[in-house]
Amino acid sequence: MNNSNKKELYEYKLDLLYYGISISKDCYNTLRKGTNNQINNNDYITTKGLIIVLDSKVYVNANLNNDSYYKIDILNGLYILKYKDLIICNVDIIQPPQFALQLTKISNGEPITDYVNIHGDRIRIQPIEGCANKCKFCDLNKKKYKLHSINDLNEAFIYDMNNVGFRHVLISGGSPLNRNEEYKYLNDVYEFFGKKYGNKFPIDIMLVPRGLNIDSNNYEGYEIFLKKLKEWNISGLSINLELYNDDYRKKYIPQKDFVGKEKYFKFIELAVKIFGKGNVRSCIIIGLEDIQDSLKAVEELCKIDCMPVLSPYIPNDDETFLPKPEFMKEVLLKSKEIADKYNVELGPICDSCKHNAIHFR
Ligand code: SF4
Repeated sequence: MNNSNKKELYEYKLDLLYYGISISKDCYNTLRKGTNNQINNNDYITTKGLIIVLDSKVYVNANLNNDSYYKIDILNGLYILKYKDLIICNVDIIQPPQFALQLTKISNGEPITDYVNIHGDRIRIQPIEGCANKCKFCDLNKKKYKLHSINDLNEAFIYDMNNVGFRHVLISGGSPLNRNEEYKYLNDVYEFFGKKYGNKFPIDIMLVPRGLNIDSNNYEGYEIFLKKLKEWNISGLSINLELYNDDYRKKYIPQKDFVGKEKYFKFIELAVKIFGKGNVRSCIIIGLEDIQDSLKAVEELCKIDCMPVLSPYIPNDDETFLPKPEFMKEVLLKSKEIADKYNVELGPICDSCKHNAIHFR
């Protein structure tokens, strides 16, 4: 291969999402190691890779794969990405922070990573361990369902604020059981972090459409709840449609399917009205359903000024497969055309958070 055969950086990103990355011995030796000599943190199916930055521009969450032809090596003291013998570009490596590699604990003896995690420049707060939902592609619901105390979450958050640093916050973790005490608990978490830290850091929440309590899961209740979140200093929302095709929704995301697509779109529309364009996004999983279904999802979201986030399907079984790089490229280019038509950006906005999304950066 000579330089004229080189692809665009984003095409390498799609390749790396698919093939993963191998690490040369020299490179491995320079990296920080965890308790098992690991160099990354296997915390969640979409974030368990190593974040690398291609040519200081394009962020990729690349899974470690010794068999990949893509390799990070060292040349003249700098990290470089190679495909076989071809040098592609310089890379930066963003390893997980020390507390994640070393499984540092908070005062109750549990690892900080049970409560918060940092990826790039964002901290993720996880109020619920496990999940009430049973999305087929997710492994979070395999963990025992448990609510974390706000004190413990705050202790872990303060540790990271003092020892690591971050630019913005996402409150995510598992979805709640349909019980008023769980709704109230999450409301308390949103209010606590929003009021205490919302003026210092932008805080986003990832959630399924809901009202303030289980009896207000209707349009009026949605609006009241969303206004409350805004009042509590929450900056943005991630309301993930995941899939568009009803058969796939039933099979892969039964609880979200039960809420109904119509309610998702209404909740998202209200969220955009209250939080503003550019502050509401929605993940679409690419590679399970037909491309036309994914593009319909993109169009329906763009129509209501919500940013679509294209997320590659990551299988956790032997029957399904990651989408091929060419497939991701086709969806990306067609989605961009649709998004441009509606003057909407493909999300997420933060470059570092694009690491696991199908994107140009
Ligand atoms: S709602 Fe989210 S955390 Fe829960 S199973 Fe589905 S994808 Fe996983």
